Amino acid sequence: MQVYKFGGASIANPVQMQQLVPIIQSAETPLIIVLSAYGKTTNALEAIALACKSHEVEEAKKLAKQLEQAHIDYALQLLSTDNYDVVFPHLNALFTELEWAIDDFNHQDFDYSYDQIVCIGELLSSRIFAAYLNQLQLSTTWIDARDLIRTDTTFRDAKVDWKQTEKQVLELCMPAMQNTIVLTQGFIGATSDNASVTLGREGSDYTAAILASILNASAVSIWKDVEGLLNADPKQFKATQKIELISYSEVIEMAFYGAQVIHPKTIKPLQNKNIPLHVKCFLNPELKGTTIQNDVLQIQYPPIIVLKKEQVLLQVTTRDFSFITEDNLSKLYQVFHQLRIKINLIQNAAISFIACIDHKEDQIEAIIAALETDYKISRNENAHLLTIRHYDNSIIDELTKDTVCLLQQKTRSTIQLVLQAV
Ligand code: ASP
Ligand code: MG
Repeated sequence: MQVYKFGGASIANPVQMQQLVPIIQSAETPLIIVLSAYGKTTNALEAIALACKSHEVEEAKKLAKQLEQAHIDYALQLLSTDNYDVVFPHLNALFTELEWAIDDFNHQDFDYSYDQIVCIGELLSSRIFAAYLNQLQLSTTWIDARDLIRTDTTFRDAKVDWKQTEKQVLELCMPAMQNTIVLTQGFIGATSDNASVTLGREGSDYTAAILASILNASAVSIWKDVEGLLNADPKQFKATQKIELISYSEVIEMAFYGAQVIHPKTIKPLQNKNIPLHVKCFLNPELKGTTIQNDVLQIQYPPIIVLKKEQVLLQVTTRDFSFITEDNLSKLYQVFHQLRIKINLIQNAAISFIACIDHKEDQIEAIIAALETDYKISRNENAHLLTIRHYDNSIIDELTKDTVCLLQQKTRSTIQLVLQAV
């Protein structure tokens, strides 16, 4: 069996959704489809959650109404009146769920409330897509991913309870897969109390990997608007190269350093079961795409370049001149951990600890508040973090032209530089 994941861009509008049909028709069966919210729906839902947070309930409701109307228009463009009448009550139930989530917004627990609002996007898009496939006689069973993916209560970044998820997936997907396409949502799940959760932004890839791993899929295909994995982001670099074959570990490294190729949690479940992951282009399904699989004999990689912008370099120095060794390190790591701040690069010296992090002002304020009694903190802003794997000197020279280097770390395979433009 196969798992296909279609992201938001692939269903950005009804015409785009229609163009996925031949891809589905030529897929090997059994087939499970994991769907994202369409277009920028998740951002729009996020804006609703933020309006609630700022006590702008009327604004939140106005935005919700716009989103509802957009989904109704989308469905009307694809479905016959009869089929629309069948799916409308399901869409309406989801609109009601969204309105309740706004009314019940809990200011004490933003992450919880965020998830109750934001989970609606994939539920809506998948309801429409299932109705459309059924209209085309491509018999499809819609399954609520909240009945499949069981998690803990880490809202917005929920951790999967694999045992329970496996039980639910086998129970619900196995029978449905026998003679229909199974269509479910990426990115969402539920706690044991049936609260909705999300798995982290762009988490639909991860859902596809979870299902593939439990059902021992022969492959996962992620359908994107690019021709495959490139060695750098084409929006940032000119001469990019497509990579046809790449190992799981190389992709994990790329994602870790900030390449927005595939959700970082996607690889592990696949790697454990040795399930290949194909990155394919929905605009041109004939293209070969990229295959991610087990370490392949001596692949020659081009330099792989990842640029993370809007970085801050924090220098944390002990006030009492104590050394940055185990004691201070464990204290510092604990604070970053408690505040859920990911450090992108670390270096420590005798009495100072340097961390490169994403520039989020509220997080920096929180760090300063937590540390300022014992440490002096200074910062360098407007930096970017450049990572090059499989580098050579010429590419380093080329990419660091017109910059000042604030920090550099180099191993045999990887160089990382924190740079500022001059
Ligand atoms: N719709 C969610 C997002 O935009 C999840 C995903 O697309 O993977 O973050
Ligand atoms: Mg998306």
